[in-house]
Amino acid sequence: MSAIDGLPPLREVIATHGLVAKKSLGQNFLLDLNLTAKIARQAGDLSACDVLEVGPGPGGLTRGLLAEGARRVLAVEKDARAMSALAEISEAYPGRLEVLNADALEIDPLAHLTPPIRIVANLPYNVGTELLTRWLTPPTWPPAWSSLTLMFQKEVAERIVAKPKSKAYGRLAILSQWRTDARIVMELPPEAFTPPPKIRSAVVHLTALPEPRYPANAATLQRVTATAFQQRRKMLRASLKGLAPGIEALLESVDIKPTARAEEIDLEHFCALARALDAA
Ligand code: SAM
Repeated sequence: MSAIDGLPPLREVIATHGLVAKKSLGQNFLLDLNLTAKIARQAGDLSACDVLEVGPGPGGLTRGLLAEGARRVLAVEKDARAMSALAEISEAYPGRLEVLNADALEIDPLAHLTPPIRIVANLPYNVGTELLTRWLTPPTWPPAWSSLTLMFQKEVAERIVAKPKSKAYGRLAILSQWRTDARIVMELPPEAFTPPPKIRSAVVHLTALPEPRYPANAATLQRVTATAFQQRRKMLRASLKGLAPGIEALLESVDIKPTARAEEIDLEHFCALARALDAA
């Protein structure tokens, strides 16, 4: 693709700009531009969209997004060393790439963009899950963004799409599936990255639903699922005891067996329980 955008291969970019990967910033770079273009395509049609990219690093995925036709990309990168490499990409795509040297956890760049907005990121694990949780819990729904296309450790990706009665099922599955359609769209082996991480990775694509799948108050639903899964091996009548007096009757009123465990309860029933708690 260097022929398409006229920019040097990523290995050369890294050498020229001294971008030796820093462990403290979770830097595992994607250097194959065919692969980054493929990830960009998982985000859907970008031609009519503004894209927020978090953690562009040397810009492999950024180049993929621009080459795939993104109307405009706003890239937020914490590492000041990446700025000169990203400036070269800006020059190759006049008026289409803006770069902010900032910590994505400290700012809210969505206000700078015009909907429809797609968010795309290959981030360190802890930053990725923290941002995912924030993006899934905006003050009002639907959110400013229409889709999220995010790289995670495979194990985290599996927790996002997990179904009841599986080990991976928990708070993250419920939060994600309540308000989005979430799918794993790609898996990547460690060798896809430089330096290679220890584990496999996966890209998850989440599309915002116009409204949550079932009605519930977000804070109550989060409180119920946090409490239930904190002691996931306990029966719900025990783990949820502190939430309301008469929890057994409340559980029964929404067709949940008080002896069931958190991982047996599907999203619809968790939402019914949250509503019952609010009405109690
Ligand atoms: N997107 C590039 C790629 O795919 O090759 C880099 C991916 S690397 C896994 C993660 C990137 O996120 C690094 O460039 C790192 O500096 C950046 N990063 C880490 N924490 C960040 C934060 N809090 N805010 C913004 N960027 C961050």
